[in-house]
Order: sequence, then structure tokens, then C-alpha cells
Amino acid sequence: MLPLRIFSSLLALLFFSVAALAAEPPRAQHVFIISLDQGAPAGIAKADMPFLKKHASEGAHTWEAFTIVPSVTLPSHTSMLTGVGIQKHQVDWNDLQPEKGLVKVPTIFSIAKKRGLVTAMFVAKIKFKTLELPGSLDAFVVPPGENPEAGKVAAAFAKMVGELKPNLCFIHFGDPDVAGHAHGMFSPEKMKALANCDAALAVIVKAIKDAGLLDTSVIIVTADHGGHDRTPAEISEIAAKTGLKPQPGTHGSSSPEDVTIPWIAWGASVRPHFTITAPVVQYDTAATALWLLGIPIPESFWGRPVTSAFE
Ligand SMILES: [Zn+2]
Ligand SMILES: [Zn+2]
Repeated sequence: MLPLRIFSSLLALLFFSVAALAAEPPRAQHVFIISLDQGAPAGIAKADMPFLKKHASEGAHTWEAFTIVPSVTLPSHTSMLTGVGIQKHQVDWNDLQPEKGLVKVPTIFSIAKKRGLVTAMFVAKIKFKTLELPGSLDAFVVPPGENPEAGKVAAAFAKMVGELKPNLCFIHFGDPDVAGHAHGMFSPEKMKALANCDAALAVIVKAIKDAGLLDTSVIIVTADHGGHDRTPAEISEIAAKTGLKPQPGTHGSSSPEDVTIPWIAWGASVRPHFTITAPVVQYDTAATALWLLGIPIPESFWGRPVTSAFE
């Protein structure tokens, strides 16, 4: 027999662990995670993006969140949508490689689906199929053509959102990455791509509003990574080695330009006009999405919800 004192402390311990794991009531019915591929804060600052900047200042934001290393599209987005680092999710490749299989850890979509929520992805790159665990998504949409523009992704979303009413939705704009690689981080082409994303964002938010979901939605805008321009010396070195002239823009390193990302939230329960000062890391987006929807965060998650951004 356990002495009563030990028994009651065990009971208290059990009570507190259960309480810690229990979900809080949902703060939102719908969470939309929008990723600007290669959406570096330094580029956003220079770009004509009035819609995003207005919502960033009216909602909660930090221009100094960080992604994982390597700061590369598929590994980073996998962290964003699974709540763990690359050492855990093991998606260390960056194109569609069906022979490598699907992500081996649960995604926020597979977790939300188990609770009967509606889930969707609207993306500009087919490699996101790597994250489509069986039965985890009600819709997976890639507009046709190579590198479909943000406007096309937004149009596909706007067409379906009214009927689908997703509780958890990921939207990916690929334009800034394509332009940044081909023309450089602050090139007119990159600025144009970011401006296009801003217009597409407005289309997305109008569609959410028209579907009657805006009052119960949180919209999170973030990025998979930033980027930097190769120096002339690096360009000649690579050209000498490979015989090919490399593109001017790149990313993947742990440099501040590559790993610094924006993290912006507005909508239901978001603290207005709030600058987030707590550290925000790529995998915190996954934890925040589940927390907002009232879903307990799995113990295996590395990410923690960005609670300071919400009331
Ligand atoms: Zn990317
Ligand atoms: Zn890229």
C-alpha cells in the first residue's frame, strides 16, 4: 500500500499532467497559413505591399522570426506544417521524390483530420505532395502550368473556399522565389513578384470574407526562408567549376538573410497593433495553428504556440 501522502501527490501529479495536455477552447474556427516563398522581410520592406503591411501593423507581427537550416523550401515548409525540425521530420530533399515516400511524422492536417476538421492546401509547387498523408486533406490544389503565379493560386482558392469552408488551410505563393533566384533579391522582378503576392493576398481575404468566415478566422502570413545574392566572386567560382553561370539569387545557409522570415497574424483573437518580441521559430506555426483550433499539441512537437500574439 502506498502511504496516503505519496498517493495524493501522485494523484495531483496525474491531475496536473492531464490538465497540461487538455486542449484550450478554440480561439478560431478557421486558420489560414499563407507562405510567401523566399518572402524575406528585407524584400517585403522595399516592396509595394500595402495590404500585407496594413494587416501586419493592425494585427500582431514580427519581422524577425527564423526558419530552420538548411533554409530550403520543402524541409522548411515541412517544419512549418509538422511542428518539428528537420532532424525529426527527415524531409531533407527539395523536389518531388516519390521513391523517398511521404513525410514520416504527422502533419497538422493529419492531426486536424482525426478531429473531423476540414483541411486543404493550395500550392504553387507539386512537391508539397510529400506532405499529403493518406486521408489528411480534403483538397490539394496546384494550378496548372510551371510555377503558377500567386494570382492563379488565389483564384483557385477563391473558387473553392465558399463550399469547402476549410478549418485548416495552407496557401503557398511561389513567385518571389522564382524571381529572386533568376534576378536577385532586390531586383525589379522580385519586387513585382512580392507586389503580385500582395494583390493575391487581398483576393484570398476577400474570398474568406465572402464565404462568411472572416470573423472566426485567423490568417497567418509567413515564409519558408529568405535569400541572398551571390557575390561576383562566387558567381565566377561556380561558373569555373560547373561551366554554367549560376542564378544570382540563392538561399539554404544559416546566414541572417536566408533564415529570417516574417510572422504576421490577424483575425479572431489576435492582439491588435502588437509587435511580437518572443522568439518565433518555423515550427511554431504548426503549434499555433493547432492551439488556435483547440487541438492539443502533441508532446512530440518542438514548436510552441505564439501565445503572446493572441488575447
Ligand atoms: Zn522556398
Ligand atoms: Zn528557392
